[in-house]
Amino acid sequence: MKNDKSTLTEIFPKGEKGPSETFTGSAYPTSLVASDSIYNTLVGNVYFEPGARSHWHSHPAGQILIITDGVGYHQIEGQPVEIIRKGSVVKCPPNVRHWHGASADLGLQQLYIIPNTEKGIVNWNEAVTDEQYSINKK
Ligand code: MN
Repeated sequence: MKNDKSTLTEIFPKGEKGPSETFTGSAYPTSLVASDSIYNTLVGNVYFEPGARSHWHSHPAGQILIITDGVGYHQIEGQPVEIIRKGSVVKCPPNVRHWHGASADLGLQQLYIIPNTEKGIVNWNEAVTDEQYSINKK
């Protein structure tokens, strides 16, 4: 496989680059379904360019990720880095610190689903260091 972010084809609007307070590198989060009182669910997309990742964070009601393209990592604190790629579906339990993002060589496109938003959406913490990002990778 050619390790080039240009191999990824955007499915959803790319939107604006996410802020450095919550992302390292170039990540583009976009809301696709706003939460309302009927569904209490948020759905959105994030494009991560190679090397980009979220800061450590947790979701009061948990999160489901569906990977639509590329290769990346998902790590729940205290557990090894999990490699995620197109077709991966990942659950992260409520109130568990974790991060997710692209691999160093290939970008990642992921849908996120946050249920039960009446409990809250996301609590952001510190950045994932380069050492944390690079450790445990094959
Ligand atoms: Mn998350």
